[in-house]
Amino acid sequence: MDRYDIAIIGTGPGGLEAAITAKIRNKNILLIGNKNLSLKVEKAHTIKNYLGISDVAGEDLTARFKKHLSDMEIEITEDKISSVYAMGDYFALQGADVMYEAETVILATGVVLGKPYPGENEYLGKGVSYCATCDAPLYRGKTAAVLGFSPKEEAEAAFLGEVCEKVYYFPQYKEPVELSKDNIEICMDKPKEIKGEMTVNTLVTDSGEVSVDGVFILRESVAPSQLVPGLLTEDNHVKVNRKLETSIPGCFACGDITGTPYQYIKAAGEGNVAALSAVAYLDEKKRKM
Ligand SMILES: Cc1cc2nc3c(=O)[nH]c(=O)nc-3n(C[C@H](O)[C@H](O)[C@H](O)COP(=O)(O)OP(=O)(O)OC[C@H]3O[C@@H](n4cnc5c(N)ncnc54)[C@H](O)[C@@H]3O)c2cc1C
Repeated sequence: MDRYDIAIIGTGPGGLEAAITAKIRNKNILLIGNKNLSLKVEKAHTIKNYLGISDVAGEDLTARFKKHLSDMEIEITEDKISSVYAMGDYFALQGADVMYEAETVILATGVVLGKPYPGENEYLGKGVSYCATCDAPLYRGKTAAVLGFSPKEEAEAAFLGEVCEKVYYFPQYKEPVELSKDNIEICMDKPKEIKGEMTVNTLVTDSGEVSVDGVFILRESVAPSQLVPGLLTEDNHVKVNRKLETSIPGCFACGDITGTPYQYIKAAGEGNVAALSAVAYLDEKKRKM
């Protein structure tokens, strides 16, 4: 398995700028996220405060970001990381069905808005999962609820439909659902709480209760403390210093994940600092060897 110098998780302005800076510094990088970059950039109507571009639609800024990546021959690995493990002198990143390794990691996954569901943290790993591909085998022949936060997650629900006996799909978005499988039921009621005993057994909604063995919560981003076990956070943001170092040596963070203000230029600026700090960390590590 390749071990990268720097793994960058997230393809918003923070992660993209980190990737560009790290590439300029000749590091072997892995940029993981979405080939369409960031919904928060793409969906913006008009952006007026990005330096050098006085008035730009989100779609046009996305196109410019893509061109910048392509000019610099930076590839995006389309995947969603569910966990990052600090292994001592390197990091292991759990993708949907691949494990990646890197000497350093930059977290640029944006902010997770909204509170966790009651019971979500309590039952994490005991019936609550954030990754269908990773955990589907645990629910073979069982019943699962899937809370999908974007149409992209329908593929995950379809996969669960192949493994589980029954899947309840709760779309948390406005677009029409295009899932059609006999054992997948589309539910438009609102999930409220996850309950259980030793493990999950019920999803409570605004119109009743559904008996389930597991609940898959498929959001755009995973809360930082769940993404990286042991990482210090404050109000759901990663705690960083001015070098964008986190509480775990070799792990850096940039963009909305580090706190307000939630702004493109702040995310991109932090991406630059985080990459330079990761480069300095790698250089220092090499000197000590
Ligand atoms: C509608 C709208 C309009 C806005 N307008 C403005 C504006 O005019 N000016 C301004 O300055 N700011 C604006 N913002 C705020 C701005 O969008 C954010 O501050 C900025 O996008 C943050 O960048 P980021 O790189 O931190 O994260 P994001 O842009 O949120 O990108 C995070 C990326 O990480 C990926 N990701 C998340 N989790 C994982 C994972 N586990 N594995 C792999 N990939 C993952 C996501 O798919 C996404 O691609 C606006 C936001 C919205 C929603």
